[in-house]
Amino acid sequence: MKIAVFSAKRYDREFLDLANAGQQHQLQYFEASLAPESAALAAGHEAVCIFVNDTVDAAMLEVLQRGGTKLVCLRCTGFNNVDLAAAARLGIKVVRVVDYSPFSVAEHAVALLLAINRSIHRAYNRTRDSNFSLDGLMGFDLHGKTAAVVGTGKIGRVFARIMLGFGCEVIGYDKFPSREFEALGARYAEPGEIGASADIVSLHCPLTPETYHIVNAESLSRMKRGALLVNTSRGGLVDAEAAIEALKTGQLGGLALDVYEQEAELFFRDLSSTIVTDDVLQRLIAFPNVIVTGHQAFFTREAITTICETTVRSVSEFEAGAALSNEIKLS
Ligand code: NAD
Repeated sequence: MKIAVFSAKRYDREFLDLANAGQQHQLQYFEASLAPESAALAAGHEAVCIFVNDTVDAAMLEVLQRGGTKLVCLRCTGFNNVDLAAAARLGIKVVRVVDYSPFSVAEHAVALLLAINRSIHRAYNRTRDSNFSLDGLMGFDLHGKTAAVVGTGKIGRVFARIMLGFGCEVIGYDKFPSREFEALGARYAEPGEIGASADIVSLHCPLTPETYHIVNAESLSRMKRGALLVNTSRGGLVDAEAAIEALKTGQLGGLALDVYEQEAELFFRDLSSTIVTDDVLQRLIAFPNVIVTGHQAFFTREAITTICETTVRSVSEFEAGAALSNEIKLS
């Protein structure tokens, strides 16, 4: 089957080609993201393969359908960028990679947390300049602290397990609580208790209309003063301007972001020789107690291998007319 792969980087090609080695799919790679200007490239491809920042709204789906596309494959878990109702109306199936490696994302969240708490990013820069002073680098023991997990699904539970290993008390909030989370030795709490008692808050819920800006001026004001916030889920969960205000007053003690609401125009690109005009991101990066990574939490060998193998398998299932094991259905 002919597959148009958008937002294709060197590593996507390498791992998709490997996954396709035993199959006969024809993969055509486009470095461009899927956007109105590039949509014509998809014409004649039954499957279109996209990534987190490719927006597939109703208008885009209509263009794809006119070009003969019947399957949209997301090389990711979140699907907030796809209009599922429009896809269903147009008879286009949508698949994702439900479960590739919750460890990749949870471990990156922990890496960010450790770095922001112990100022590893600042120590790294200081020692390269022979500055071995410790002033300003003091963190706190994770042991005995309260870590809150918002969204206790696959990634949230791995994060919870690691935090329990540090000796944290782990509390969580989820719209659909699960026994597996409690079985780890964690417990559920209301948002009010999370705000009042968590020293660390890590976001692992999907971006939906309900979770858009769940971290905002009001919820930040209810957080324990000096708490650390980690977001490896989706940028739209955090009102970044409100976070800046909370960082300025010290209400928020530190912020680690792997995702950013306006990341579509920025992330996955080398912009080091250009002037970045996003003042909110630039302000965030300027804080000593903020770390930003460019949506790399998923980026492990194991995760990419599974993402690519699952994507190729989904296309093969579709071609064979079999049930799609990773289809996203309208709930
Ligand atoms: P999952 O579906 O296993 O877990 C999500 C959890 O969020 C579920 O338990 C669900 O009940 C809960 N939830 C849904 N609505 C909620 C709400 N309103 N309030 C609180 N909880 C709610 O998903 P997962 O595999 O753990 O992934 C979680 C998120 O991580 C994805 O949605 C995606 O946005 C993000 N992600 C980021 C990266 C990255 O590289 N940064 C990679 C993969 C996934």
